[in-house]
Amino acid sequence: MPPVPVRADLDLAEGYHSPQVDVRIRLNTNESPIAPPRAWVEAVRAELEHIEFNRYPDRRAWALRSALGAVHGVGPEEVFCANGSNEVLQCLLLAFGGPGRAVALFEPTYALHSHIARLTGTVVATGERLADFRIDLDEVGRVSAEAAPVVTFLCSPNNPSGRADPKEVVEQVLAIAPGLVVVDEAYGQFCAWSALSLLGTEDRLAVVRTFSKTWSMAAARLGYLVAPASVVAALEQVALPYHLDSFKQVAGRLALDYQSDMDARVAELVQERGRLAAGLAAMPVESWPSDANFILFRPLARPGEEVWQRLLDRSVLVRNCSGWPRLEGCLRVTVGTPEENTAFLAALAECLA
Ligand SMILES: *Cc1c(COP(=O)(O)O)cnc(C)c1O
Repeated sequence: MPPVPVRADLDLAEGYHSPQVDVRIRLNTNESPIAPPRAWVEAVRAELEHIEFNRYPDRRAWALRSALGAVHGVGPEEVFCANGSNEVLQCLLLAFGGPGRAVALFEPTYALHSHIARLTGTVVATGERLADFRIDLDEVGRVSAEAAPVVTFLCSPNNPSGRADPKEVVEQVLAIAPGLVVVDEAYGQFCAWSALSLLGTEDRLAVVRTFSKTWSMAAARLGYLVAPASVVAALEQVALPYHLDSFKQVAGRLALDYQSDMDARVAELVQERGRLAAGLAAMPVESWPSDANFILFRPLARPGEEVWQRLLDRSVLVRNCSGWPRLEGCLRVTVGTPEENTAFLAALAECLA
């Protein structure tokens, strides 16, 4: 019998995956290289004693949402939590996207925005960024007029190019775009300004954050959105019942007690980012300024693909973006520990020689 055909509108060959290979230095997925505080692990362990394992978790994750709301100065009804910010985005597009509706995004940007849009049957209306990867407001205008997007995605700081969108740009996009403006701030804490500061005055704005990067909790799979209560209510309608297990509700809530540790980790990484940027600037590569925990660069002496492989041969894994549209020959390196960054720079120098 022939295999059962998958949906004709899905090109499953085009998944978004970075290889999970066993290497000495892993700098390919923008995780934090620093573990969360031991005291947080102990607090989670103690709280797990009180989970009623025979019962479903709190369906509305109210304690977690209240704690996050308190951090951002909003109520729990303005916070939506899910299994990673990717699931937040999926719920957004299940609720607001779908056949006959369009999302706007500006390439190059986070590949999951267009990927999840396609999975949910949503039309992807693509605009271009400027040559230095900043948002081109003319393109926002063009795509808005042509596609009338129900959701316009920004990514600030933008993965993979690294720069944050300034406040004026987000405000101008809000003025141009006809639908929701969703700002993906997975790296928001690396940056001084956040679109969260516009939430009180803008009723079409949603900001998405994650525990995967700055909170050093990629293993927990927890992300959230802050938005007007009407948007959050729509997302609750499409989320599966009890999608957020009791473990991560506890883990996320307790993490917020260690905000100052997180700030200290971010500061350490920002300092290392400066050292990494200086190291790259002294090599035959083109590199782009970053407000996040990664740096995009393009080797000039050899093809990016070849440099990626030569790094891997030295057990250093970075993200290979060389085949991505508009990023020909580019690689992206995550800021690691000081030792990892030193080893990366030494390996790269060898590979470029
Ligand atoms: C890493 C990343 C995320 C995180 O996704 P999770 O599902 O929360 O791990 C979201 N958006 C961007 C732009 C990212 O780079």
